[in-house]
Amino acid sequence: MKNINPGDFVELIFPNKSYKGILLESPKDEKGVILLKLDSGYNIGFKKKDISEIRLIKKAEKKEEKIEIKIPQEKPKIAMIITGGTIASKLDTKTGAVSPLTKPEEFFKFYPKIFDKVSLEKIIVPFTKASEDMDFKDWKKIAKITYNLLNNKEIKGVIITHGTDTLHYTASALSFFLQNLNKPVILTYSQRSIDRASSDANLNLQCSALASISDIAEVLLVGHATMNDDFCFAILGTKARKLHTSRRDAFKSVNRKPIAKIWPDKIEILSEHKLRNEKNKVKLDAKFNNKVALIKFYPGQNPDILEFYHKNKYEGLVIEATGLGHVSSLSKNSFLKKIKKLTKDGIIVCVTSQCIYGRVDPYVYSNGRELEKAGAIFLEDMLSETAFVKLGWILGHKEWKKNKQIIKQKMLTNFAGEINERLDEQFHSL
Ligand code: ASP
Repeated sequence: MKNINPGDFVELIFPNKSYKGILLESPKDEKGVILLKLDSGYNIGFKKKDISEIRLIKKAEKKEEKIEIKIPQEKPKIAMIITGGTIASKLDTKTGAVSPLTKPEEFFKFYPKIFDKVSLEKIIVPFTKASEDMDFKDWKKIAKITYNLLNNKEIKGVIITHGTDTLHYTASALSFFLQNLNKPVILTYSQRSIDRASSDANLNLQCSALASISDIAEVLLVGHATMNDDFCFAILGTKARKLHTSRRDAFKSVNRKPIAKIWPDKIEILSEHKLRNEKNKVKLDAKFNNKVALIKFYPGQNPDILEFYHKNKYEGLVIEATGLGHVSSLSKNSFLKKIKKLTKDGIIVCVTSQCIYGRVDPYVYSNGRELEKAGAIFLEDMLSETAFVKLGWILGHKEWKKNKQIIKQKMLTNFAGEINERLDEQFHSL
């Protein structure tokens, strides 16, 4: 172990196998254990006595050096909003976990290639949070900052870096909160922290840079299209979903084709999108009624759970139902009676599917028909998370909230590509 320290990239050699990864500090009370962070992101422990040799592959980077960002002046100018998550974190070799960068701008040190195509006019860091700690107030904050940046004539587009876990909620919120877009709004992420050789941030940032100066005036999520480091997909904000816990191509475009395939130096358009028009007057409509909830139905679930929302004066619920949009209707745990009561009392009940891919349909089984008769609104092929954000947004408008028919009509209006009339078979799986 001479000259090998925590943080170094090493190979542990056993009599019949070997493992590569970043050496972590051994736990204090278990000095006979060697901990390694594998490329997949998992931490794994080995008994020292079983290891034949520890081979150094690469020394860890020296810690605190001055960060000098050389931003070229002559390239198209964009702005960046940094909000936290893995893309703005680095590995802590003591714990094996990632923790936020002390200076979020530090990531430019690792990824100078982002400046191959663009120059950064502004970097805004409203907060540094893991995305599971965010809520609608954060979505509003990001929307307002983005709105101001879009109105800045110098700026060609905006990149927002964000944690992956709830990125699809934020992408939906921005899609509804920012209308009549004039320029691209690009959300990006990484699944592996930036100081790791296998980090996906490099490609994601380079493709995002190109997307931000493209002619696509949409809220897009840009990230790895495959498990390799070759190209990214640009996915419409309302149709993106995290579908893998650790893979770099965690996000998929559900029920529609991605908008584009992006390499660091070229874009291939795959489907229809709105075009850049810098004369468009962007509308900020960042309203949200927090009295909405997303509930997953499961077999045997006690419908009394709905009473909680009733008692606590919730105004809208999205029920992520089974298959085509079913909940129990005949068992002792039938949801129907309670849903009827809720809708009679003015609570909006919407239905999406936990299948994720496909469309809900109330007319195939009698169960679905009963649910529709009970007042539930079936949300076509809308993703549950998108539906939740949309319901909060619609109920945030006092003028619409007064009338149940208007709410239903708005929920079924396609504002930001959240409903797709014709599903593309080709893109129906991981
Ligand atoms: N939990 C982190 C987050 O969503 C994961 C990530 O950034 O990828 O912020």
